[in-house]
Order: sequence, then structure tokens, then C-alpha cells
Amino acid sequence: MKITETIAAIASSSGHSGIGIIRISGEEAIEVADRIFKAYKKGKMLKDVESHTAHFGYIMDGEQVLDEVLVLVLKGPHSYTGEDTVEIDCHGGALILKKVLDLVIRNGARTAEPGEFTKRAFLNGKMDLSQAEAVMDLINSQNDFALNSSINQLRGDVSEAVRQIRSDILYHIAFIESALDDPEHISLDGYDEQITKMLDENTKKVKRLIDTFDNGRRMKEGIKTVILGKPNAGKSSLLNLMLGEERAIVTDIEGTTRDTLEENINLGELSLKIIDTAGIRSTDDKVEQIGVQKAKKMAEEADLILFVMDGSKQIDENDREILHLIQGRQAVILINKMDMELVTSEEDVKKISDCDVILFSAKEGLGMELLEEKIKEKFYSGKVTYNNQVYITNSRHKEALDNAYESLIQVGQSVQAGMPEDFYSIDLMSAYSELGLILGESVEDDLVNEIFSKFCMGK
Ligand code: GDP
Repeated sequence: MKITETIAAIASSSGHSGIGIIRISGEEAIEVADRIFKAYKKGKMLKDVESHTAHFGYIMDGEQVLDEVLVLVLKGPHSYTGEDTVEIDCHGGALILKKVLDLVIRNGARTAEPGEFTKRAFLNGKMDLSQAEAVMDLINSQNDFALNSSINQLRGDVSEAVRQIRSDILYHIAFIESALDDPEHISLDGYDEQITKMLDENTKKVKRLIDTFDNGRRMKEGIKTVILGKPNAGKSSLLNLMLGEERAIVTDIEGTTRDTLEENINLGELSLKIIDTAGIRSTDDKVEQIGVQKAKKMAEEADLILFVMDGSKQIDENDREILHLIQGRQAVILINKMDMELVTSEEDVKKISDCDVILFSAKEGLGMELLEEKIKEKFYSGKVTYNNQVYITNSRHKEALDNAYESLIQVGQSVQAGMPEDFYSIDLMSAYSELGLILGESVEDDLVNEIFSKFCMGK
């Protein structure tokens, strides 16, 4: 692909809004804009203006005025993509934006692929791959944590943590290489001690980053939660209660169709991703309908299980089966319908299960705070904190860190086993490369394309 091709897209959301933005980027961005822009000030051409300036005028399709606009000119390399960029602030109607974009395309740009602006920013060295990924995360953020961690990642804190580790490793790769090349001047005596110290420090750092992943993912995407229970126990009432909580923000997950199976719920500080909400709603025959096998599978994939029991009924075989299924898992058992006379008590359940048990009423909204507390205890030792620790929230990064960790451990074992130093280099090198993947060094084109294809249009 010729990177200098000029691309264009609607960069704002393309519904009806006050302002809609068309972004053009590439070698001919300014030329293309000049072909369709008539400045309010007679004779002014965009090619003659200073970078980072705004210009009022009209978008002209031949003699016809399409829109009254403000045009921003941002000359490379000081633009998002690193290339010459023009942003046209139009009025925000879907039809206007489409017409202006069509006009831009007819005048020499081509439609940008999803994520192509950010991909160019990456390819032009304006940001590394982890920062580019943070752009997408930022746009898709569903809660404060996701927003916070993606902003930090965009500002480069994941990159910085990785760079520091890489720079330590690189020093040792270079040192070993030089010593082997020039044994007369560079001695490897006592070197094992030095490298052991470096390995201790850096395996710890890598491990610390890896350890943030589960919590990071849960906070970013929500704790994967399934609601299980017999027909009529109150599962959909619980779901509705959580959805209807004043503090809850309900968002459809992007990219899913009408029959959304997951729902993101922010409950106070907690973010839950409730799985199979369509199933909960569409049937009053949950467990029987999905079958214990499927319930088992769902439970296995979930971080958290909420088991709703009908407290106005006796515990039966079906309940026992589910209790057995969730044994040893992160689960909260809700004895529902506490507003009625309870036939099943907390003690009855505790006798046959080690899971947390609370009394609940989905109808009256009783027990919600206790439920929140229990969840916080399970996942965040009681307190959700958004400190400024570096969090790994991207599974691609986690995988690279896992591999780098393995390689560093391998070096340590070679040192212990008294292997020759050139053995160390091989594994040091692979740790170095793995970490480089996070920053986007030597990643395959296919992977780059895949990552950016997940972006939305115009970004
Ligand atoms: P599901 O089949 O498990 O989804 O159960 P539903 O949420 O549809 O509830 C079944 C019935 O129990 C409905 O008539 C609800 O109004 C009722 N119900 C649910 N939760 C409570 C509760 O806490 N107290 C009382 N009294 N009734 C409840």
C-alpha cells in the first residue's frame, strides 16, 4: 500500500449533531480540500496558510454551495497521523456529511478503512502500537476505570514500563556480545551475579504487570457474570432490578445486534458484564431450558455466578445440582423473596454449600448493597481502587508478557546451570522481542491490519 495515498472519512459520529467532521489525511489532503473549499476571504487558498489555523468558508460542489464550514489545516508531521491533515467542520446532518465526503472522494481522496488514521499515526511513528490500541479502548470505554486506564496507556505508561525492562535486557545482550567478541578487554568474571540481579528485578516487574491483567480486564470489561436459578426464582427480576438501579448505567455492547446476549451494568463502583441476558428474559424456564450442562459451561466461563433461589420454596434436587456445580467458584447465592415467608433459610443453604449466601428480595430491592459488598470482597479485597498503577488490559500484551517472563526464567535457569553466556543471549533476545511486540516492533503486517480493522470508521 502506498502510504501517501490521501484518505478521508467522517470522523464524528454520523448521526444528527451540531457539528460533523470530515477528516482528510495524506500527501494531497490540502490540495483536495482546496479543490472544494471556497474561503470567505476572497482568493485565500489553504495551501498558502499556516499550519494549525482555522478558516471559514464554503464547501462547493461546482457552483453549488453544499455547506458553510470551518476548515482546520494541520501540516505534517504535527498532526494526529503525522501527515498533512485537513478537518472540515460541517453541520452535523447525516446527509450533509455524506455529500461532503462524496465530494472529497470525487476530488482525489479515497475512503479510509476503519482505524486507518490511527494506523498511519502508528506507521509514521506518532505513537507505538500499545498507544494506538489505547485509542480504540478509550473510544469503547464503558466505565471510569476503562477510561482511566486507556488514557494512561495512550499517554504511554504501558509503553514506558515495557521500554525500561527492554532497555535493561538490551544492555545485557550487548554486554555479552561485546565480551564474547573481545574477551581480552571485557571480562565476564563475576558477570553471573550481575545478570542474576537484573533478572530478579525484571522478572518481578514483568510478573507484576502480568498480575494486573485479571483485575484490569474485569474492571475494564466488567466482571463476567451469569445469573442461574430455577424457573420463577426471580432471575429476570434481579436483572431488571440491577438495570433499573438509579446508579446503574446500561449500555449496549458495541457491535452486537438486537438480540444482545450481554449487558454491561455499572453498579456503583462495580462493572458487571451480565452474560446471556436474552436467555434470562426470553424464558421462565431457565435452568431446565438451558440444561445443567450448558449452565455448567456458562458457569465455567464466568468470573462470578449469581445463583437465585426461591426462598419461599423448599430446596430440591435441581437446586442441589446447581449448588454442587458452583461449589468452589466465585459465587453468591441469593435467597430471594425474603419479603415473603421464607421456607429456606441461610443456614439451610450453608449446610450444603460453602458459597456466600445472602437474603434478598428482587421485588423490594432488598439486599442489593450487601450483594455489592460481597462482590467487592471477592474481586477487589473489598475496595475498588483506581490508583495510577499501570494495568495491562489487553490480552495481546498479556501474552507477550507471559512469553517474555518464560524467557527470562529460562535465562535464570541457564545461569544456575552454569551454561555458557551465549546461551543467555538467545533467551534474552526472545524476551526482548516479545516485549517489542507490545510496542509494535517487528509485528507482522497481518496482525497490524487485524488490530486496526477493529477500529471504528474515521479513527
Ligand atoms: P425467573 O423465571 O427466574 O426469571 O423469575 P422472575 O423474575 O420472572 O420472577 C418470577 C415471579 O416471582 C414473578 O412473579 C416475580 O414477580 C416474582 N418475584 C421475583 N422476585 C421476587 C421477590 O423478591 N419477592 C416476591 N414476593 N416475588 C418475587
